[in-house]
Amino acid sequence: MNENKKKVKALGLCSGGLDSILSGVVLARQGVDVVWVSFETPFFSAEKARRASDMTGIPLIVTDIFHRYLPMLKNPPAGYGRYMNPCMDCHALMFRIACEQMPQIGADFLFSGEVMGQRPMSQTKSSLRYVEKHSGCEGRILRPLSAKRLPESDMEKRGLVDRQRLFDFTGRSRKPQIRLARELGIVDYPAPGGGCMLTDPNYSKRVNDLLDHVENPEWEDFELLQYGRHIRLSTGVKLVAGRYLEDNNHILSLYRPETDVRIVMKDKPGPVGLIPRCDPEEERIKTGAAICAGYGQGADDESVQVIVTSPKIHETLSVIPIKPDQISTLVIM
Ligand code: SF4
Repeated sequence: MNENKKKVKALGLCSGGLDSILSGVVLARQGVDVVWVSFETPFFSAEKARRASDMTGIPLIVTDIFHRYLPMLKNPPAGYGRYMNPCMDCHALMFRIACEQMPQIGADFLFSGEVMGQRPMSQTKSSLRYVEKHSGCEGRILRPLSAKRLPESDMEKRGLVDRQRLFDFTGRSRKPQIRLARELGIVDYPAPGGGCMLTDPNYSKRVNDLLDHVENPEWEDFELLQYGRHIRLSTGVKLVAGRYLEDNNHILSLYRPETDVRIVMKDKPGPVGLIPRCDPEEERIKTGAAICAGYGQGADDESVQVIVTSPKIHETLSVIPIKPDQISTLVIM
């Protein structure tokens, strides 16, 4: 063997799920120098990928792709899945970004743990083809777990990987993957699913509302969608009111004093309210404060003292609580 021969290097997309773990380990066992990349947005994190990297020893790069993800999310050419999940264009974008990272890593090709036919929208044969075509990396993407179901890739033809040691998994059953994991001694892997907020029906409704009303939402705007009740007071004004103490704490942590209005009950426990990213008229602020009071322990009182802080004011208002049943049509979800 030529000692100077460069080791084959591959960059893999890693979600941290069993399929991506297997695809990386399978290639590493063939002697390929494997590096993973995982992406972060407000909708999914690299947490599972970090655990997978710790467990396998495969190095991981984590890249924040929010600013490239948002324009795609607003208008995905291949459309959305059941909710606001633009899976095909999401995959295509991830591969495109990974493709751009290849020279810096010195990678010969990309790979992922996708299994043909596993997901109805994003992992059919034509979807895998769509993703490859729109990734800017055509001919340089390997799917080790389904490779034998797909036409022989250039990497296999050139002998960079041994096709015989790749797999022919297909469909929704996870039994073959679980068997392979056992054979490879992989016992600690996460349960499938649950990693992407865009597949959550209620979160998706809030995303839709946000994109309809805010031209350039920021990371925190999407993060805020996970907490509290969201109540649209007018086209440009939305109130977020905490449901529990935990909600209140998250909402407070996302409060931006330079742009937001914060509403806190003065004497009796109740929700923290936030009117994000706008400069509402005083009447709207009062309505928001009254709605918050209506969810609090002073809901049956004649009036409730509420502390309001905005970029312009910091004052205590006395409001007549508005009960939840009076505003049910304004609640988003
Ligand atoms: S489930 Fe979410 S992260 Fe996964 S491909 Fe679809 S949009 Fe992307």
